[in-house]
Amino acid sequence: MNIKSTNMKKIMEKYTTIHALGMSTGLGLWDMRVNMLKDASEDRGKMRSIITGLYQDMMLNKEFLDLINVAEKEDLTLYEKAIIRSLKRETKFYLAIPPDVLKEYIKLTTVAYNEWVKARAKSDFSIFEPYLGKIAEFSRKFAELLRYENEPYDAMLDRYEEGILARDFDEMFTGIKKKIVPVFKKLADDRSHALENEPYNEERLKDFIIYVVRKFGYNFNRGRLDKTTHPFTMSIGMNDVRITTRYEGGKDFRMPLLGSIHEFGHAIYDMQIDPSLNWTPLASGSITYSLGIHESQSRFWENMVGRSREFIEAFHDVLIAFMPNIAMYGTEEIYRYFNIVRPNYIRVEADELCYPMHILLRYELERDMMNEKINISELPQVWNEKMENYMGIIPPDDARGCLQDPHWSRMFGYFPTYAMGTILAAQIKRKLENEIGPLGEFIRAKNFGPVTNWQKENIHKYSSLYTPKELVKTALGEPMNVEYFAKHVKKYVELWS
Ligand code: MG
Repeated sequence: MNIKSTNMKKIMEKYTTIHALGMSTGLGLWDMRVNMLKDASEDRGKMRSIITGLYQDMMLNKEFLDLINVAEKEDLTLYEKAIIRSLKRETKFYLAIPPDVLKEYIKLTTVAYNEWVKARAKSDFSIFEPYLGKIAEFSRKFAELLRYENEPYDAMLDRYEEGILARDFDEMFTGIKKKIVPVFKKLADDRSHALENEPYNEERLKDFIIYVVRKFGYNFNRGRLDKTTHPFTMSIGMNDVRITTRYEGGKDFRMPLLGSIHEFGHAIYDMQIDPSLNWTPLASGSITYSLGIHESQSRFWENMVGRSREFIEAFHDVLIAFMPNIAMYGTEEIYRYFNIVRPNYIRVEADELCYPMHILLRYELERDMMNEKINISELPQVWNEKMENYMGIIPPDDARGCLQDPHWSRMFGYFPTYAMGTILAAQIKRKLENEIGPLGEFIRAKNFGPVTNWQKENIHKYSSLYTPKELVKTALGEPMNVEYFAKHVKKYVELWS
């Protein structure tokens, strides 16, 4: 893809510096989550807010904005139009939010994140409560400044999922309530598995994870695997895509393994973006513009590949070579261990069927916090009530309840994209199989090239060339549909009823 318009060429020249600042912000965020020293948070917050200020100044440079407005009226290619759409979307945010407000917000999120870490460690909601209150206020302020379709929450959703409204998510969650909740309720039982208590050696497990993601196609010349509290993937450009995982407790290897496979799914997306989009606003757009589609890629690898019978069969030999203490467990036992269905307090540890219940709960709660339908101080109590309602369990403490996720130390509107990813993963699997054949056969042969290639050609290479709704239609031939996930979860009915 190349640029024809002279104005577009000028825009791209100026954009290069903005892009570099964006990369440095990403690198700083990765470092904050992986390496930051205890007493460095205040200075780091200041540094981040200054860099964000510079980024904003450059985005709002009058000459730059004028160029965008002139170029927009020209006869542009699809690629050029997408660049303009992307820049307009980005400048819309900075034009709407005054620099002082934004700086204050960035500082707040840095402190709020660290207060969340403390609150979670002590399981004391009162530590985090004042910061959550401020985040809620900021979200309302942002919504008013950004304007919205039907309710303030729409403005927040749009930050993460371009053009998708609460109305669209309501449709998805109605589908989940109708088709998934009853299946979960029927199968949910307080199950456990002996493998959950089998210890692992962190270094050996890490080596196994490296073996697995390398087989899948993760390139360690363009990526790395580190340890963190809350796993994430960070792209510092498409040639530096880092994944993280957490090892907690030294037993139950399934969580670090499937968590890493999940992050691999995010990483391979960014590694397979069309190289001609590098250093353009479209290079990182897939994350900024559709978290739901991004999450569908991580969920695909975690659930459709990692939790499959074929994966366990194909990797069993290597697994027990790295973890000889589990050699007495056969593939069927490990398959059941990977696919336990039960109510779980923790979202990131929840099984595939329990997971959407967690998102449903957060969707309703953050919407209510934004609309001031619940008091921030009531959050632990309302959280527990909903948990009992949807899952039949009450968390023993807030660390395993409303303090478990870091997301609300930043902003509202992010969570529903997780459910969107889960739903889409099943739909993508069906489409992929229709075109290249059964996924299980590729897994059995450890031949992942055709799978990643299909993903590249149909989804990854485009990055944010299309809006999320357009991309779903282009790649899958139809809009998002809960039906495929409802069919997919029948595997659990077969396993557990
Ligand atoms: Mg994810």
